[in-house]
Amino acid sequence: MLWSLFKIILFVALIAVAALGAGWLMETGGGVRIAVGAQEFNLGALQAAIVFVLFVLAIWLLLKLISLLTAVVHFLNGDETAISRYFDRNRERKGYEALADGLMALASGEERAAMAKAARAEKFLHRPELTNLITAQAAEMAGDRKKAEDVYKRLLQDERTRFVGIRGIMKQKLEAGDTETAMKLAEKAFALKPRHVETGDILLALQATQSDWSGARKTLGAKVKTGALPKDVGKRRDAVLALQEAKDIFDEGNSIRAREAAIEANKLSPDLIPGAVLAATSYMERDNPRYATRVLTKAWQAQPHPDLAAAFAAIRPDETPEERLKRFKALTKHQKDHPETRMLLAELHIANEDYPAARNALGDLAETDPTQRSLTLMAAIERGEGGDDDTVRACLTRAVTASRGPQWVCDKCNQIHADWVPVCENCGAFDTLSWKVPPEGGARIHGGAEMLPLLVSKPAPEAPDTPPTEAEAEVEPPHADYADPDDAGPAQFAPEVEGKPK
Ligand SMILES: [Zn+2]
Repeated sequence: MLWSLFKIILFVALIAVAALGAGWLMETGGGVRIAVGAQEFNLGALQAAIVFVLFVLAIWLLLKLISLLTAVVHFLNGDETAISRYFDRNRERKGYEALADGLMALASGEERAAMAKAARAEKFLHRPELTNLITAQAAEMAGDRKKAEDVYKRLLQDERTRFVGIRGIMKQKLEAGDTETAMKLAEKAFALKPRHVETGDILLALQATQSDWSGARKTLGAKVKTGALPKDVGKRRDAVLALQEAKDIFDEGNSIRAREAAIEANKLSPDLIPGAVLAATSYMERDNPRYATRVLTKAWQAQPHPDLAAAFAAIRPDETPEERLKRFKALTKHQKDHPETRMLLAELHIANEDYPAARNALGDLAETDPTQRSLTLMAAIERGEGGDDDTVRACLTRAVTASRGPQWVCDKCNQIHADWVPVCENCGAFDTLSWKVPPEGGARIHGGAEMLPLLVSKPAPEAPDTPPTEAEAEVEPPHADYADPDDAGPAQFAPEVEGKPK
């Protein structure tokens, strides 16, 4: 404290001397005369300036010497670390300067300079947890993966930097496509920092792509617990994971446990369509049509979907078209103006051979929302009402080039999926599939083979890959899920339509 005060006073004094000296120089006309004992020196203006600089330098050296001497005196007085502390202070100062330079270099994108400065800082500071961070970042920026990995491994040894090290290596493994190692590292990193949002997301995505549903549910639970994820989003995603878990258990053949899991998934998120379908199937296996009806109705209220209608039909596969129409009121009384409800009702009436009612149910859908399905239904109504071949064919021709209507589309990359999946098959995003009309360019022109069941008389011809049961053939619309993208195009069905006798 005193020493600092002394330095400040000395500095002020030096400034005063300098100011005095400058004034003096002016007065004496650019020359200085110094008398030392009996000798006299006459200096010019430049020489005077040089002497002054030397004088300042001498004072600075003197100060350094004094502080060193103080350290020596302390040492002699028994303070053993006084001298080493004196040098440490110097080293520390140089070290932090180098560290600051390294950070600057890193921020300005000079990787090599940053690495050099980090190495210099390490020499003085011996703080690997700081300097290694700069080196690792710089090596990553320079594309020197090997060096970056080495540094990350060094970071693992310190408790404080272990997370950074694990995260660094994890990202490298992810980039290299080694998902298995990356997942193990992500688990470790997440255990260290459960509040770290990015790590949680990576771990969850990895677990989902590896079909580790129970692990993913645990991660999700931890994320919700720490507040990294809103509760409602967490619940929905938990339902998605629970559903996948249930599907896996079904595949393993443990149907009792799978039923419980499917019902649980449905309870977590009643509007998740595949969850409602699976839950309804589970209730039916338990011989509980009332509950099956209830879950499907609830999901239909949230979003009408052909899969829900198909599952609803499967509750009583043997009923007559009339009975079916009556039973389906549970569904069709909700979301009355929804295209899906209107098309479902039209199909039910067609199956019941009540074509005017079908036309009434369909309304102007074939004009306002012309999709393959609404146009095919229109064609069936025309045919049923005894319309001529030209009218029917006109409808079908339009159907061939019409939009396929809503499909399972990834919100992130717009990839179309034939069936709902929790992880996008294209971009790997989790729970991004929505039932919607794909954006322009995503729609594909499809074969008309799947439109035939409604046009030819019953029993319906069986589709090659998904032979429909009798009930399905009656009620199931020729909706998107029947379509096989590889099927041949319209050329295949046109001659058949023409060849069909009136
Ligand atoms: Zn996607």
